[in-house]
Amino acid sequence: MNKVRVRFAPSPTGFLHVGGLRTALYDYLYARKTGGDFVLKIEDTDRKRFVEGAVENLIKSLDFLGLERDEGVFMKDVASEFENEKIVDSKNYPGIIEVGEYGPYIQSEKLEVYKKYAEQLVKDGHAYYCFCEPERLEEMRKEQQARKSPPLYDQYCLRNVTPEEVNKKLKENCLYTIRLKIPKDETIEFEDMVRGKVKFDTNLVDDQVLLKSDGFPTYHLANVVDDHDMKITYIIRGEEWLSSAPKHLLLYRYFGWEAPRFAHLPLLLNTDRSKLSKRQGDVAVEDYIKKGYLKEAIINFVAFLGWNPGGGETQEIFTLEELADRFDFAHVHKGGAVFDLKKLDWINSQWIKRISLEELYSRSLEFWKEKEFYKEWIARYETRNMKHEAQEAENYIKKVLEVERERLQKLSEVGESNRFFFAEKLNYDKKLLSWKDMPDEELRQSLARSAEIMENIPKGDWTRENLEKELMAACEKYYKTQDGKINRGSLLWPLRAALTGEQKSPSPFEVAWVLGKEESLKRINKATELK
Ligand code: GLU
Repeated sequence: MNKVRVRFAPSPTGFLHVGGLRTALYDYLYARKTGGDFVLKIEDTDRKRFVEGAVENLIKSLDFLGLERDEGVFMKDVASEFENEKIVDSKNYPGIIEVGEYGPYIQSEKLEVYKKYAEQLVKDGHAYYCFCEPERLEEMRKEQQARKSPPLYDQYCLRNVTPEEVNKKLKENCLYTIRLKIPKDETIEFEDMVRGKVKFDTNLVDDQVLLKSDGFPTYHLANVVDDHDMKITYIIRGEEWLSSAPKHLLLYRYFGWEAPRFAHLPLLLNTDRSKLSKRQGDVAVEDYIKKGYLKEAIINFVAFLGWNPGGGETQEIFTLEELADRFDFAHVHKGGAVFDLKKLDWINSQWIKRISLEELYSRSLEFWKEKEFYKEWIARYETRNMKHEAQEAENYIKKVLEVERERLQKLSEVGESNRFFFAEKLNYDKKLLSWKDMPDEELRQSLARSAEIMENIPKGDWTRENLEKELMAACEKYYKTQDGKINRGSLLWPLRAALTGEQKSPSPFEVAWVLGKEESLKRINKATELK
């Protein structure tokens, strides 16, 4: 058996989007699962749609997400990781290197190769020169539309231009394309790893342009030539390429090359089952990161867009390694995969709970820094000019995160629903403090009890557990009703309200723990003074 070799072959027409990521991820998973190679090549023959910076963005996004490749294009700064491999600088993209023996891995760098192959096909009678001008093709298309016949090239040049005329036109430097000659009345059949047996009637396949008049190959020719050059064994790509497969298979046949196997992945759909498009919502992976989704969650979510572990598995949270272990094509489905943002939010909330506090802190820092309440708080903190202020601020944020991570869906939400942690002064109405319209005297007593309990907890024992233990004991002691029920609200509501100034918040134990002894007592004191 040949070694499995898969490739991700993006066109730099935009930044990495969710569909592209899904393809790259399945490539990665399949390569890891089978001990194969994962190659990154760049299909940049469509110069009209080329987007500046897209190649670099694609590489960096894959790096960021941890989808490591074995071969192909890389940023120059990782060159030292490939000691024993052939490395060349990309001719067309400064800062990018190509690693491996089957390059160039960038199509715009091997135009001569494609041209040679296109001419070879003409010589062998599998392709032909076409001199039709755009106006004629346009005319032809309009007629076809009117007749409602399939939009196929009418083979005018194949039938009407003699070899002598071809030579003459070439000598005169007439503009030309080279078209693939599709055989008539044939069925092209192949076994797709996702869709099973797929058949195409060649009478409905167009005589595809292989070489354009600007000398650039089309995607179809370049794709086949370099997948062959790179010894690719499995082509994993989106369903939108399925109709290209018969053209590609014919090319493999005409060149006398063994064709790789194909896996066409299901379309991505919106929740209303319409096709997921760039216009409907942002689908660039970078945008999701900017919105506060974790890379682990994005990977986890995208893996399930068209695949599941099968076998009645109920586990939904998987690391990249676990996915590589479980992935197979038997469980990739044919039907469209619905892109459900709610599901992504849920998976993200699960991952926020899973990563270490250290990670959560460092990854959320950029989001904190954008927020006004944080900026004001940290400025006050810094003017205190304490020796350990930076460390203290960090510890404080980590405590807030420990309390918040249970409820957070996105990193961008940090602190938002708990701004009272950062307020210099709380602003609330005295009425908020009172539990079930308790009279003033009772309220005062309740707050005094909380304060007393807290005074008695030494700073070193200021933990959530101790606060809960002591305060719950007090509830039992002071607020047990005659029928044996404990009226916790009488102690805990005024305390929580005094600490937060809010209707809703985490428990008073958690809040007091984060605020610390001094600030908690200060806030209780302020509450007592409210008129
Ligand atoms: N360049 C194509 C794309 O952008 C790749 C298709 C393929 O994998 O063959 O999707």
